[in-house]
Amino acid sequence: MRRDNLLIKQWLLERKKKALYRNLKTLESPQQARVTIEGRELLSFSSNDYLGLANHPQIISAFKKAADQYGVGSGSSHLVSGHFKEHSMLEKELAEFTGRDRAILFSNGYMANLGVITALVDKGDVVFQDRLNHASLIDAGLLCKARMVRYRHNDMESLGKKVQPESHNNTMIVSDSVFSMDGDVAPIRELAAIAQEHASWLMIDDAHGFGVLGDTGAGLVEAENLTQEEIPLLMATFGKAMGTAGAFVAGPNDIIEYIAQTARTWMYTTAMPPALAAATRESLKIIQRETWRRNKLKAVIDLFKRESEKIGLVLLPSNTAIQPLIVGDSQVALELAKKLLDKGILVVAIRPPTVPVNTARLRITLSAHHQEEDIFQLIRVLSECLDD
Ligand SMILES: *Cc1c(COP(=O)(O)O)cnc(C)c1O
Repeated sequence: MRRDNLLIKQWLLERKKKALYRNLKTLESPQQARVTIEGRELLSFSSNDYLGLANHPQIISAFKKAADQYGVGSGSSHLVSGHFKEHSMLEKELAEFTGRDRAILFSNGYMANLGVITALVDKGDVVFQDRLNHASLIDAGLLCKARMVRYRHNDMESLGKKVQPESHNNTMIVSDSVFSMDGDVAPIRELAAIAQEHASWLMIDDAHGFGVLGDTGAGLVEAENLTQEEIPLLMATFGKAMGTAGAFVAGPNDIIEYIAQTARTWMYTTAMPPALAAATRESLKIIQRETWRRNKLKAVIDLFKRESEKIGLVLLPSNTAIQPLIVGDSQVALELAKKLLDKGILVVAIRPPTVPVNTARLRITLSAHHQEEDIFQLIRVLSECLDD
């Protein structure tokens, strides 16, 4: 279809009518428990800054110091001349932290996922993906030359059946660790067993587990104690619990080297600013050292779940910082978010196509920077808004 101006206008109108229109909010403050939007202070339950590190003074100062030392821009892609000592140190520290041979940095998680999947599978191969995988993984599956097969969410029987019958050249199983819009966790031990049984690659996207899960914050692979033999491709991002931006993929030497030789979203893009790598190194130190942040987050999650049960909220079965309240209809979800906003609470309505049709929801995200009183306020306001 030709998208001339009139058609685009109609499309936009239609989107508004279906309550699917997206509106941009502009922050005038740092990302923290209270944010300022259009001059109003709001109590926010909508960022992925799970450990409250996005505005941490030590990370800010590491960022500034490295900017003084190395400047702002990296100047080129990693392979040309944009790979700095800070990048290299961060890669070493990430490999050590996750118990992998080697790690490679990407500018962001979206590009890491596109890069890795398109590099490792080819024509004649098959990529198996959980239905609720992050959009970047699904896009990678569409972009790569292999066939993509989606299995039912967290359903190992569904995956097992789909992997079984054909004999493929090369297969890759791909899953989120913590599902970004549902907050539940993938059975990665079972995924690893299925992958081993079928000699398949296994890639885990730990964007929402890294920093938060595991005793030292090394993510779901630490919590489940899975090695790089069991999970050869581990990806995680810095934009969530780490409070910075960027991503990495970690695994066996040869695989990471192969990615460095072939992943187009790594080769053909400017390296992240070295100061960002330095800030991320500082963040990595803090998440390892300050276990209280993970404990605090757990306490906040438990309190929220307990209090929401008291007022009869039906939440999805999630024990993570992502606590979705399913509303169903997009219009209703949008109106509910608007009511909360009017009462000073920022929670975002997540609607299709981000989530399946008729499962629009409020995605409440919790953080170590929330205080008990913040949770009580959220519950009070939620209860008022739902009573209306
Ligand atoms: C956020 C996210 C990404 C994308 O990472 P960015 O660094 O924000 O591009 C990929 N996968 C999952 C599961 C995510 O939640």
